[in-house]
Amino acid sequence: MNDAVRAPLPRQPQPIPLAQAGAARPLIDAFQRRITYLRLSVTDRCDLRCSYCMPERMRFLPKKEVLSLEELYALATGFIARGVTKIRITGGEPLVRRDIIDLFSALGRRLGHDLAELTLTTNGTQLATHAEALAKAGVRRVNVSLDTRDRAKFAALTRRDSLPQVLEGIAAAKAAGLKVKLNVVALKGVNQDELPDLIAWGHSQGHDVTLIEVMPLGDVEQERLDQYLPLDEVRRSLEACWTLKDIAYATGGPARYVEIAETGGRLGFITPHTGNFCSGCNRLRVTATGQLYPCLGRGERVDLRAALRSEAPEANLAAALDEALRIKPEKHHFRMDARGAAPAVARHMSMTGG
Ligand code: SAM
Ligand code: SF4
Repeated sequence: MNDAVRAPLPRQPQPIPLAQAGAARPLIDAFQRRITYLRLSVTDRCDLRCSYCMPERMRFLPKKEVLSLEELYALATGFIARGVTKIRITGGEPLVRRDIIDLFSALGRRLGHDLAELTLTTNGTQLATHAEALAKAGVRRVNVSLDTRDRAKFAALTRRDSLPQVLEGIAAAKAAGLKVKLNVVALKGVNQDELPDLIAWGHSQGHDVTLIEVMPLGDVEQERLDQYLPLDEVRRSLEACWTLKDIAYATGGPARYVEIAETGGRLGFITPHTGNFCSGCNRLRVTATGQLYPCLGRGERVDLRAALRSEAPEANLAAALDEALRIKPEKHHFRMDARGAAPAVARHMSMTGG
């Protein structure tokens, strides 16, 4: 292994000013989309087993295949040098990874210099323990997944009885000054009837809420078509009782937002099926083993771990990123219209990171 990735996480990096970051060789793909957003998975492991995400007996990767925290940091800085200004740490469940706060702290020291935002997607089970430390590291916003507030339903859906910890985690994040967005996967016949209550509760707590259409990623023991609830249908049913106004608000992700007059809150819709958003895609995703997937819904990948562990990591990483830009497809081709269809890709969402 080379020195760059053996070095301990730096306490005082010397980042370049934001305006200059990536100016030399920005990440622009073949469709002229500029990549400024990295979703970095730090583990494929998780303490829940959401039935739309993974099977009960999920097989996780051997730990030796996963990048060290030092390698994850070196990788992130390689992206920052090419103009990435926003990093979301994801997984699996990022907060189950030991010492993960050290990575947040190291990356957090670049905020205000060559990094504009550092965020996290979490299931919330460990948030009560880590919320203060995340805020101290410079995290300002977190996405917390919450598909139901019904304890029995939560236990059935995630196969773990952890709703109290998650609600405690959300409260702790708010108390630590973090802006919380609730991610809700809309599931036919599971949380369909609860969506208005969940949205109203989120808004009453001051949280934005985003609804997500389920995607056919990996085998999950259940028929995908039975889980799928199109969000155009959900929107129509919400409009029967509430006033929804489209707004230009954007957070750098694919959600399109409305404001709900009656709750006073914002609601996002992530619609890979009923409203393709690929033309505005500004992100790349890297797994915990350093595999870069230019598209969530496709199989093409570039091995950044090999580049990172080579004798010339900087040059090889730069070449690997150029290759990723070259092969980044125009759009995904998810299909959600056939019973018994194979997943669009074999890897689960917990592998690529959400
Ligand atoms: N464990 C963390 C969590 O649940 O927030 C982070 C990783 S999780 C893979 C990221 C997001 O992906 C979550 O909001 C989750 O609900 C969503 N997700 C997982 N599998 C999905 C699928 N097949 N389709 C759509 N969203 C999915
Ligand atoms: Fe774990 Fe997140 Fe997947 Fe649920 S959605 S099983 S919390 S990785």
